[in-house]
Amino acid sequence: MIEVEKAMELFRHHDKVKFILTGLGEREYETVQFKEIVGLLEKQIPKEPIILLEDEDGFAYQFEHYLCPNCKNIFEQRPQRSNAPLYSPNYCQDCGQAMKWE
Ligand SMILES: [Zn+2]
Repeated sequence: MIEVEKAMELFRHHDKVKFILTGLGEREYETVQFKEIVGLLEKQIPKEPIILLEDEDGFAYQFEHYLCPNCKNIFEQRPQRSNAPLYSPNYCQDCGQAMKWE
């Protein structure tokens, strides 16, 4: 079985791919035709959220913003060092990116 990373590398770094289709012979495809599929595979690899700190009043009070690393959707905002439980979904609800949490 080809691992996701290996498959993505093949489709990203080569212009053409050739398949031998049983009973139909060889077919050659431009790898760019698989761009959407590769994009879907990429989203299956969990990525850490982007954490941005925002200085709300220019003095001491800061907010943490948690963004999807793929579509930049903000799915959590809270005061820095908050004790409230962090909303940490396994997938981005907007684009389906798998999320990795410490
Ligand atoms: Zn997203």
